[in-house]
This record gives sequence, C-alpha cells and structure tokens, in this order.
Amino acid sequence: MNKVDIVEWLKCEDETKLELLWKQADEVRDKHVGNAVHLRGLLEISNICSRECHYCGIHAGNEELERYRMPEDEILACVNEAVSYRYGTVVLQAGEDYGITREWLSGLIRRIKAETDLAVTLSLGERSDEDLVAWKEAGADRYLLRFETSNRELYNRIHPPLPGETSDRLALLKRLREIGYEIGSGVMIGIPGQTYEDLANDILTFKELNLDMIGVGPYIAHSGTPLGRDDAKLKAPEGEQVPNTEAMTYKVIALARIACPKANIPSTSALATLNTATGRELGLARGANIVMPNLTPKKYRAMYEIYPAKACIDETAADCRACMHGRILSIGRGIGSGRGDSPNKTKPDQAA
Ligand code: SAH
Repeated sequence: MNKVDIVEWLKCEDETKLELLWKQADEVRDKHVGNAVHLRGLLEISNICSRECHYCGIHAGNEELERYRMPEDEILACVNEAVSYRYGTVVLQAGEDYGITREWLSGLIRRIKAETDLAVTLSLGERSDEDLVAWKEAGADRYLLRFETSNRELYNRIHPPLPGETSDRLALLKRLREIGYEIGSGVMIGIPGQTYEDLANDILTFKELNLDMIGVGPYIAHSGTPLGRDDAKLKAPEGEQVPNTEAMTYKVIALARIACPKANIPSTSALATLNTATGRELGLARGANIVMPNLTPKKYRAMYEIYPAKACIDETAADCRACMHGRILSIGRGIGSGRGDSPNKTKPDQAA
C-alpha cells in the first residue's frame, strides 16, 4: 500500500468499503499473529514529569495535579498480582521522572526478573543512553516510546525538548533497537494540525522502523494543557485536518496491521475512552491483538490523567482483569499464554 492508497482509506466514509478494510485487517491479524490476545499489565509507577508536552495532562507545568511515585514494595505487590492473573508482561510507565534513577530501576527490574517469569516493558520517555543500557542489562525486554507524529514541524510545536537538548524520538527508537530492546512506538490520531498526509506518513514510518509493537489512539484534549486550550486555532484547514474520532482510530489500527502484519498492536484505553461499550472489541476485530489491563492501584489512577475521562479510572486491577477476559472471550478470541514476544524476535526469518 502506498501513501495515496493510505490517504484514500483514511478519507473513506463508505461503510461498505470500510467493511472490506476491517475484513482484510482481521485476516492479516489471524494469519500472522493468530487468535490469541495477549494481556500486558500496565502499571503507572509515577506521574512526576520534567517535560512540557503540550498535549499531555501530566506535563510539568500542570500545578493542579497531585504527584506520586510508587515505592518499590508497592510496585512488587502489583507485579505479583500480574503473575496471579497470568499476565505475561508488566509495563512500567511514567512521566519523564528523573527521580526514577538508573540504580533504583535497575534493582527493581532485577527483582522482577529474579522473582517472576514476566517480560518487562518500560515506557519512561527519553532517557539517557547510560540509563537505557543499564536497564537492558538488568533484564528489561521492551521499550515503548511513541514518536507521536512524523511531521517534524508539528512534533517540535507540541513536544518541546528539555532546555539545551534536542528531542529525536525516531533516532532514539533506532538506538533502543541496537541496545537490544523490542521496540514499540505509535502516534496520536487527530492532533490539531495533523493532516491526512501526515498520518499516512506515520503509518509508512511504522513499517520503515519495523516496529515490534504499534500503539495508536485518538488525541483527547485536556483543558489543563496548552494544546487543549488552543485546540481550535491550531487545526489544519478544513478537509485536511484528521478528526480525532473512533472511526479514524479503527482505520489506523487496520492500516497499521496491513502494513506491519507481525506487529503486536493493542486496542488502547484512549479508544475505549471514546467508546466504553465496545471500543476494545472493535479494535481487536479490526487488527489489534493485545490489550493492556490496568494494574495501577486505584488510589493513583485519577492522578495519572494524561487525558480526561480515561477509561477504567474507577476500577481495581481485579475488575480490569475480569472485564478484559469477558470482552476477549465474547468475540471468540482466546487469551494468550506466555510472554507474547514479538514475532520479529521469535521468528526473525518471517519478519515482515
Ligand atoms: N512519559 C512517557 C509516557 C507518556 S504517556 C512518554 O512520553 O513516552 C503515553 C502516551 O500517552 C504518550 O506517548 C501519548 O501518545 C499519549 N497521550 C498523552 N497525552 C494524550 C492525550 N491528550 N490524548 C491522547 N493520548 C495522549
């Protein structure tokens, strides 16, 4: 599929034609990654952040927010819960929190790897080479870092670097791969200023990076952020601006699946936020093969408000597990067992 074809699909509103796209994506998913849906327990270990991303509710300048960093013992209790729920992976996500030090996290990763069989995924922002190497050596398996948009100008506008530094997430992803991580990335859909062509380039970039994991979700405006406040002013001209809708999210999931047949693709919480009733299931039926049930203790969930009205905010880890199982089984899919490693790693010769 080339850029013109992708743009045409992104603009398509003909339900009959779209059925063909959903069907193709579902077939590609079934053929390349199978029927099983893998569960990754998501633990939001800190909402402390040193960055000023214009889209994100936990950016440093948001003084309304109470901040937390989970202590090690509390994290390990949640990790044990993940084991008891038979999740294969724990994802440690946080703001770009330099209080999460190289040594402290290395120790935590070593304990998780010594005490469990879980794969460990990190999603901690743009950390130094020394940190990333040390965490890999401690046993971390995967790293998630969305490049957010492949349009460099838009990226620079919404994602300021730390003072005196540059921010190049594409280069960092390549470096993460060299270090030995499985790499995951993705974008937000419908960022004010994002055009159809930008989004088509994003999908082509997924392929170019040969990503192991691709996470996409709708951009959801947060009133405590610069982008949330200035939303309307920043939009691309009528007809060019990508809408941040549920329908557009399914199209991107399906196109990402067709472009990258072997990638692990989650049906995300941001999508479930737009359609609590059936968003997760429709994502799974249109290309996705992963869900990330939330493991974060209830007392912290509301504080990890990257966007408002986030799905599952009032639930416990046990609620999330039961809910995800029910949703997966209801659409005739199976629950994955084991770590759910990237087929790029387990069957490199067949990598797309
Ligand atoms: N600090 C880490 C984790 C950030 S949260 C990092 O920067 O990588 C994970 C993802 O949430 C971000 O990469 C972004 O794509 C998404 N996100 C942030 N704000 C959002 C918003 N307002 N709407 C939708 N998704 C958002």
